[in-house]
Amino acid sequence: MTVRLGIAGAAGRMGQMLVHEAVGRSDCRVTSASEGPASPALGQDAGTAAGVAPLGVAIGADAEAFVRGCDAVLDFTVPAATARHAVLAARHGVALVAGTTGLNAEQERAIAEAARTTVVVRAANFSLGVNLLLGLVERAARSLDAAWDIEIVEMHHRHKVDAPSGTALALGQAAARARGIYLDVTSERGRDGLTGARKPGAIGFASLRGGDVAGEHTVLFAAEGERLELIHKATTRAIFARGALAAALWTPGRPPGLYAMKDVLGL
Ligand code: NAD
Repeated sequence: MTVRLGIAGAAGRMGQMLVHEAVGRSDCRVTSASEGPASPALGQDAGTAAGVAPLGVAIGADAEAFVRGCDAVLDFTVPAATARHAVLAARHGVALVAGTTGLNAEQERAIAEAARTTVVVRAANFSLGVNLLLGLVERAARSLDAAWDIEIVEMHHRHKVDAPSGTALALGQAAARARGIYLDVTSERGRDGLTGARKPGAIGFASLRGGDVAGEHTVLFAAEGERLELIHKATTRAIFARGALAAALWTPGRPPGLYAMKDVLGL
């Protein structure tokens, strides 16, 4: 079976990478592509916009026509667009692979709601390495008691608009889950000035921005006299695109539901 892919935000960094990874494969083909209403890429061929050969698929701004033109939407755009695509994917029985980060609670609810009627794969990070790291962090946080302070440091390129990264938050959630605490009430985000001593049991976050860094995450467990660091470094966005593509190819025939990359990878 050839899975028909819809690339949302086709002229964006991830959108272009997804087109790049999808061309030349026999198990899928790009059949629709979209961009925001103000994008200069509207009307362009999705292949041309991605720097590959033309695909005969024009980038459009009509979200409903875009969703209807495929079996699976791959969405790495902006939170409002992803929430809208979730509603449309559910309406038309199209699978959704959603990678956008920085969604608010209402937008996340729109995704969860869509998963009641269609297949949704949601991940803050589609790389194999980070999905393994999530499990390692959970295991370490369960083994090391609260005498071990947990700090999460991430670095991304200068264009990233949300902080901490969705991946850093997912890593924090994994650690919090293992310790039986709520990340919302225990996280320390952005220290500045006379902060006072570190709160016992807190999970701290620090975000660095600069250059073209595709994504680096370090989870530190720091105790008196020793420190454990678990590190993942992405050197290319292709790893996220490949993971998202694997997720899209995994969706046909699945029952509706909200799935994670660990389901796709069988971890
Ligand atoms: P980007 O800004 O390069 O691309 C986003 C694209 O979406 C832009 O081209 C923009 O014009 C387009 N867009 C805006 N509104 C739209 C709409 N209504 N319909 C269709 N397209 C629309 O950003 P990026 O670096 O590609 O990242 C996009 C998102 O994906 C971010 O939230 C980022 O954090 C996330 N991301 C997730 C992963 C992961 O593995 N989950 C990996 C990389 C990036």
